[in-house]
This record gives sequence, structure tokens and C-alpha cells, in this order.
Amino acid sequence: MSETTFNQGLRLKRFAMAATTYLLWLGLFAYVRYMGLSQIPWAVLWRCTCLVALCNIALLLVFLSGLNRCFKDPSLTLFQMGMGTFWVMVGVYYSGEARGGLLLLYLVVFVYGLFRLKVRQFLFLSAFAIASYGAVLFLLQRQDPDGFNTRLEVMNLLILMVVLPWFSLVGGYITSLREKVARAMATIEKLAIHDDLTQVFNRRQMFEILEREKALGDRGVHPFSICIFDLDHFKRVNDTFGHEAGDIVLRTVAQAIQKNLRDIDHIARYGGEEFILILTNSGVSEAMQCAERVRVLTEGLAFDGLPADFRVTISVGVTKYTPSEDIKASIGRADDALYRAKSKGRNRVEYEPAKRRGGQGGAGAREKKG
Ligand code: GH3
Ligand code: MG
Ligand code: MG
Repeated sequence: MSETTFNQGLRLKRFAMAATTYLLWLGLFAYVRYMGLSQIPWAVLWRCTCLVALCNIALLLVFLSGLNRCFKDPSLTLFQMGMGTFWVMVGVYYSGEARGGLLLLYLVVFVYGLFRLKVRQFLFLSAFAIASYGAVLFLLQRQDPDGFNTRLEVMNLLILMVVLPWFSLVGGYITSLREKVARAMATIEKLAIHDDLTQVFNRRQMFEILEREKALGDRGVHPFSICIFDLDHFKRVNDTFGHEAGDIVLRTVAQAIQKNLRDIDHIARYGGEEFILILTNSGVSEAMQCAERVRVLTEGLAFDGLPADFRVTISVGVTKYTPSEDIKASIGRADDALYRAKSKGRNRVEYEPAKRRGGQGGAGAREKKG
């Protein structure tokens, strides 16, 4: 499921929750009317019910058609809360003696803004709620000055004037906390899969990607190839220019190669001054071309703070994944090829073909060396 489909699903769920809340309100209101606490004519209550239903059907169509995505906030949170506040206002106008208790419904609306609205938006909605409630009281006082309990109604208004701005501040604070947590999570996720020094994927992420590619390769979706490369005589770089200069070289090479790859290919730090390229949907010839391209690219790189004529080279081992084999066998073969590139004089690309089906694959130069 794509991320936007997932988000749209969440928005629909939130909408369904709001629509259910309207149903509960209408039920509550019918009860208030039934108990004789409100004098709202049944016909008006029925018309209001139809209008609430129409509003919600219109909103549902907006979500289903994807029109909501045209707005800055595709959840339409503030709009839905404004609509909720409007219907609470209509409710309190008709609620007679039950008005004080129905003030709680404002809080139900405001809860929808938690984690979403900023303080400014909450305060804006508070101002709308308080102003509309004040307007309702003014209207009721004009219609029936004798039956209007000014002391009680002013007290209700004051409660609203204290509670809603307070809720706005706390709600806005909760939203900002949620944003901070989301940012921290994004940083943690990035740190967990990237190498600190070179900013390319780390070893753990490399195995994740390899397993993913293996699954696709095994199902015959597409083949993939692996290149392992190692910087030549890198120890000399550290010994001559210092470890920090060595770090700059590693970072520059990794970044330059990453920029040179297709979006669908990956580079990861395998360890030390060794990196791996995972080339999606690539056979042997594409992988060899890519390996040669990054080899030439590397030998042309210049490095900050190092002599202008200083250059590094890489040796590359290439292999293609054979469906159903253990991923370590492919890595081992690429390692064998790399070992051969080193022994043949470095700054070159070598290819190791897959063993016959049922064969053991590459033993891995590392094991041989050891
Ligand atoms: P070869 O051509 O055979 O690969 O020779 P080499 O000198 O590159 O290989 P060797 O394995 O002898 O040395 C690798 C060096 O890489 C040694 C190690 O200190 C250095 N190295 C590994 N990781 C880092 C790192 O993160 N930063 C720096 N600056 N150096 C590193
Ligand atoms: Mg090396
Ligand atoms: Mg090495």
C-alpha cells in the first residue's frame, strides 16, 4: 500500500469517527427534546438532522474523490472542527435548560485538533466558538428578556472563555510535542540505516536491501548484480596525510559514487574502506559498465585539503546474483573478483561468474586470505 493511500485511509477513519460523533449528538439532542428540556420543534430537529447528514455526505465525497488532497491540510481538520463548532452553536441555541451541559460538546470538537492544530489555529477556533456562543446568548436574550437567566448564562460564557483558550494552549503544546517526536523519529531512522562518516547506507541496511532484492530475484521479477569495491593502498593515505584526510577521502568517494548511480541502485559501506553497490535489475554487462564508470569517476576525484594532484583508485569485484542462492555466496564471489583485481595490480574491475547450479558459490577472498 502506498504511503498516500495509507494516509487517505487514516483520514477516512478520522472522518468516520467525526460522523459517528454527530450521530451521538443528534441522539442526545432528541433525548433532550423528548425530556421536554428543549422546545425545539421536531420539524426543525428533523431538518437539522438532514443538513448534518448532507454536510457529512459532501465531506465523504470530497475524501473519496481525493479532492481533499488539493488543500494544504488534506485531513481538513480545521474545516471539520469549524463545522462541528457551528453545529454545537445551533445545538446550544435550541437546547433550553440543557445549554450549560451541552457546553461540553465544544470540548469534544476540540479533541479532534489534538496532535494536529497549532496554538494559533486552536485560538482562532476558540474565538469563533466563544463569539458564536455570545451571539446565541444575545439572540436568546432579545427574544425572551424575562426568561433569560443573565447571571447563569454569563457564567456559562465565562467558563467557555476560560476553558477553550486553556485547551488551545495545552492542545497546541501537545501538537508541538508530537512534531518534535516525529522529527526525532525521522533522525533516529536515518541514523539507524546510514553510516555516520560517509552518509551512505550502513551494513545492516545493506543486508536489508540484499534480502529484498533476493526475494525479487528468486521470484523472477528481475535480476540484480553486486559490486564490491575497496580503495587501493588506503593505508598509505592515512599514513601520509592523517586519519582525518582519510575520512575526507572516504566521504568524497562514497558521495560522488552515490550521486553517479541511478535512483534505483544502492551504495552501502561494507566496512572500513570497502563499499558495496547493489544494482537493481542489472545483468552482468550493465554491472560491468557501472563498475567501470565508478572506477574512472574515482580516479578523477580531487579532495578538499589534499594536494591538487593527489588521486585515489579503487578495485572492483563484480558478480550477478543467482536465484535461490544464499546472499553470502554472491558476496563471496564478488569478494573473490575483488581479490583478483587487487592481485592483478589494482585500479581495475574483475568479474566472477556464478558457479554451476548446486555449486557452493564464491568461497570469499576474506576466508582465503585468513
Ligand atoms: P589494498 O589496496 O590492498 O586494499 O591496501 P589498503 O592499504 O587499502 O588495505 P589495508 O586493509 O591494509 O588498509 C585499510 C586501511 O583503511 C586501514 C584502516 O586504518 C583504514 N580505514 C578503515 N576505516 C577507516 C576510516 O573510517 N577512516 C580512515 N581514515 N581510515 C580507515
Ligand atoms: Mg584497501
Ligand atoms: Mg580493505
